[in-house]
Amino acid sequence: MCGDDGGSLQHSHRSRKVCVVGAGMAGLAAARELRREGHAVTVMEQRGDVGGQWLYDPRTDGGDPLGAAPPPVKVHSSMYASVRLISPRELMGFSDFQFVPTRHGGGDPRRFPVHGEVYRYLKDFCDTFGLMDFVKLNTRVVRVAMAPPRPPDEEKEGGDELRRVVRSVKIRESVDCIADDEEIAAEEEEMFDAVVVANGHYSQPRLPSINGMEQWKRRQLHSHSYRVPDPFRGEVVVLVGCGDSGLDIVLDLCGVAREVHLTSNSSMASATSTSPAMSKMLANHAGHLHLHPRIDRLCHDGHVAFVDGSGVVADTVIYCTGYDYSFPFLDTGGLVTVDDNRVGPLFEHTFPPAIAPSLSFVGVPRKVIVPWFFQAQGRWIARVLSCRSSLPEVEEMVRAVEEYHHGREIAGVPKKYSHDLGGVDPRNVDPKEMYEFVAKYTDLAPMEDWKNEIVYSVIRNVKQDRETFRDRDDDSENVRRGVETWLTLNMSAAAKEDGAANSTSACAHSPSCLNSDIRS
Ligand SMILES: Cc1cc2nc3c(=O)[nH]c(=O)nc-3n(C[C@H](O)[C@H](O)[C@H](O)COP(=O)(O)OP(=O)(O)OC[C@H]3O[C@@H](n4cnc5c(N)ncnc54)[C@H](O)[C@@H]3O)c2cc1C
Repeated sequence: MCGDDGGSLQHSHRSRKVCVVGAGMAGLAAARELRREGHAVTVMEQRGDVGGQWLYDPRTDGGDPLGAAPPPVKVHSSMYASVRLISPRELMGFSDFQFVPTRHGGGDPRRFPVHGEVYRYLKDFCDTFGLMDFVKLNTRVVRVAMAPPRPPDEEKEGGDELRRVVRSVKIRESVDCIADDEEIAAEEEEMFDAVVVANGHYSQPRLPSINGMEQWKRRQLHSHSYRVPDPFRGEVVVLVGCGDSGLDIVLDLCGVAREVHLTSNSSMASATSTSPAMSKMLANHAGHLHLHPRIDRLCHDGHVAFVDGSGVVADTVIYCTGYDYSFPFLDTGGLVTVDDNRVGPLFEHTFPPAIAPSLSFVGVPRKVIVPWFFQAQGRWIARVLSCRSSLPEVEEMVRAVEEYHHGREIAGVPKKYSHDLGGVDPRNVDPKEMYEFVAKYTDLAPMEDWKNEIVYSVIRNVKQDRETFRDRDDDSENVRRGVETWLTLNMSAAAKEDGAANSTSACAHSPSCLNSDIRS
């Protein structure tokens, strides 16, 4: 792409016309970096506002609560009402726009705030950097494909061959609780030099295969369609999956459902064979919460049989079994595929070698610190497109991708975790690979040591007690000092804007205030 001008202008700065698909955290991070680098950006977002997952949607895929129909699901956001962050806010900021608390608009200043606080932050980010001027809302991308070659006379002017055509349609979100958006205009096509895909991967349910699932007559849903506990009042609920969503939803249900039965992925499950956090949770909710091994089968009469021979008659089964990558609008002629949640081939989880850099992805990696990591990906893409950075030869990128996956396979990492940069064990996250990426491809400053210390103390606390880790006030002196400086540096501007500098900073300078519950 950068060698089109015969090599003589190889290092000259090029401005491209770039389309970003999706205005969630990843798309906004990419848009900001592309703008910063001088590209002409259009962000296409299907919903009526930015924020992606963090734009809570009370609607659900009511007609298909399992999400078993072919993609895409009708409702994008899988956020349930009670979500509080599992990652600390000190880490969840853009490098130059930190996620500091604010009290205007009823914010939640805690270290692990409610989901609406992230939405508020992303809106502030857009306003601060004027991004809304470039976002086309209610615009669903329905096809991204290679554009036909330019006419010969245009090519002579130095045009690139690898352009993309983006087809989109204007939609109006349904107001019903069962989503069925309405198309309100004819499809439109537009040419771009490059497309950045940032459509997220927490929407398309990943379902297990369990005997009897298709015949089960009672209620079953994926956590994608879970919002509030009330519909399960008095019920016996079986939950499949012990990940973050599974454990959150279990706790949501414990106060409402008659019994909650959590199934792990192993063939054995008892309080003694589990982690200290799980044992504590079972003890705290004794009589209501029960742990089981894998489900063996679901029976017609509502009986759920577990592999250890035990069973329970249930009203509802909720699958908290994660999500699949899905790019239903992408037509690459087979150059990018999804196989058991491996998207690829993608060089460094970002560029498909054969069609880079006119197509790239932001947000594929999981277990990364966001939006910081998305910002790094966006910055790298922006610089490659402007010719400030270059990519290796195609064959070299292909080889690197193969070696990467091969190395992980040898290490015993299942294919479905191909993009989990922080490791596959949620209780032992290792940020090394992510830090190496950021250092190699960007000039972003490394994560400060006090922030790293928070990461490791959160991991430790989660292992000890899943229910209270968010509200512990056990920062070391190093972290306390780091937080104090961070707040002083980053809150003054926001507080001035609020006209509330005094009241805000008085609280913000105390780390315990970050952790205290000020919902009242
Ligand atoms: C319940 C829950 C809790 C979570 N908690 C945390 C947490 O505590 N900490 C954390 O770091 N992460 C958390 N996450 C993950 C979080 O979603 C990601 O960190 C991040 O928000 C992903 O951003 P994204 O932009 O990649 O995707 P999304 O936020 O999903 O944004 C994608 C955007 O693309 C749009 N889009 C999709 N398809 C199209 C199309 N065809 N045309 C136009 N627009 C399209 C969507 O409407 C959406 O706005 C959580 C996720 C869930 C579901």
